[in-house]
Amino acid sequence: MNIVIIGGGPAGLMAAEAACAAGAQVALYDAMASVGRKFLLAGKGGLNLTHSEPSEKFLSRYGTRRAQIAPLLASIGPDKLRSWARGLGIDTFVGSSGRVFPTDLKAAPLLRAWLRRIRKAGVHFHVRHRWIGWDEQGALSFATPQGIHSVQAEAVVLALGGGSWPKLGSDASWVPLLAGRGIHIVPLQPANCGFDVGWSEHFRTKFAGHPVKSVAIIVRNAAGAESWHPGEFVITETGVEGGVIYSVSASLREEILTKGAATLRLDLAPDRDGPRLTHDLSRPRGKRTMATHLQRQAHIEGVKAGLLREVVSKEDFTDPVRLAAAIKSLPLRLIAPRPLEEAISTAGGVPFEALDVRLMVSSLPGVFCAGEMLDWEAPTGGYLLTACFATGHAAGAGAAAWLRERARRET
Ligand SMILES: Cc1cc2nc3c(=O)[nH]c(=O)nc-3n(C[C@H](O)[C@H](O)[C@H](O)COP(=O)(O)OP(=O)(O)OC[C@H]3O[C@@H](n4cnc5c(N)ncnc54)[C@H](O)[C@@H]3O)c2cc1C
Repeated sequence: MNIVIIGGGPAGLMAAEAACAAGAQVALYDAMASVGRKFLLAGKGGLNLTHSEPSEKFLSRYGTRRAQIAPLLASIGPDKLRSWARGLGIDTFVGSSGRVFPTDLKAAPLLRAWLRRIRKAGVHFHVRHRWIGWDEQGALSFATPQGIHSVQAEAVVLALGGGSWPKLGSDASWVPLLAGRGIHIVPLQPANCGFDVGWSEHFRTKFAGHPVKSVAIIVRNAAGAESWHPGEFVITETGVEGGVIYSVSASLREEILTKGAATLRLDLAPDRDGPRLTHDLSRPRGKRTMATHLQRQAHIEGVKAGLLREVVSKEDFTDPVRLAAAIKSLPLRLIAPRPLEEAISTAGGVPFEALDVRLMVSSLPGVFCAGEMLDWEAPTGGYLLTACFATGHAAGAGAAAWLRERARRET
């Protein structure tokens, strides 16, 4: 059995390990000079490997793709991932939010140990090999510094990533290659991304880069139901980005797509209720400026006060009732998601409907797909890596099982 894996991110490496464990001869190709570059970048944020929350909640993070992801997590889900890391000599811990990290919060030691083990198992690595499609004989074609290189494979696992941070290797150049073979690719879109607001020049120069802490955002879904999300975010040159924004970015992106804009509401004082704020802000101001009054009575200052001034009319700003209402529910109109290149992850890709349960493309026997290039999305919190590992495992093991069955049929 000879299996080629293309793409050396977490999905491809897991596919290589699983295919090798199933007895296949495995060669892994990557366009870059080294593998796992985005994985290493994820390490800069502490490498949130997975999440410890109960299974039901965990699965709900995959939204409309829950049904497809759930069975794949059976072979390597959150718990097994922790013991898998332990097998590489990397202990993990559960952070206060339930997120799971390696104890040293780094990706490099884990990647080094993993590559050592994969190489020892017999996987051959070929870097600086950019897959550019199939040649006329049906062999895989790679552009290399030495020219075009053709490789025959009995089965191939494509684990080419999404389209965010293209300089790390996943540049979505596979989209036309698969579309050219008749596969409908769901258009790639930014996920876990920031949004443009279009700040005034004054606000932008004063507050770009400032974190907005102890806030909550209130979002209304298509059915009109409101949800409340505490957290923090950052003001950017053009809008907003960061944790709590990413957590609702999928629904905001969809709303912008259908309506041209989306409005989220900010609760700038999540630990104070509206009537109390109104009462406090209605106290006589005397000769104090409005800024001082706001700071004393509502503890609103700095970037939060700036946001109020940016959005609220002058009249409302001096009316305690309307000002309190704005503090508890400040509308922020988002006009566009930031480009895919800047996003943490990618939505869209190869739809599960084009694949069988082993993640083989039904119309291209022997071609399997895994990782972020598949059409699923999830918030940050370790759900991205978990699904990349799980789909990689399924595709690698699936390719080996498919070849074994084919050999049995042929004898
Ligand atoms: C800043 C940042 C922080 C993140 N932090 C976390 C986190 O803490 N937790 C989490 O769960 N997720 C995190 N993620 C997301 C996570 O890193 C990705 O979901 C994951 O790396 C995707 O894995 P993958 O194997 O599908 O693709 P990738 O990791 O993108 O790997 C794809 C590989 O394919 C290769 N390739 C692409 N095209 C070709 C081609 N034509 N020929 C040959 N090779 C090719 C690329 O060079 C690359 O090596 C983060 C992402 C970013 C950007």
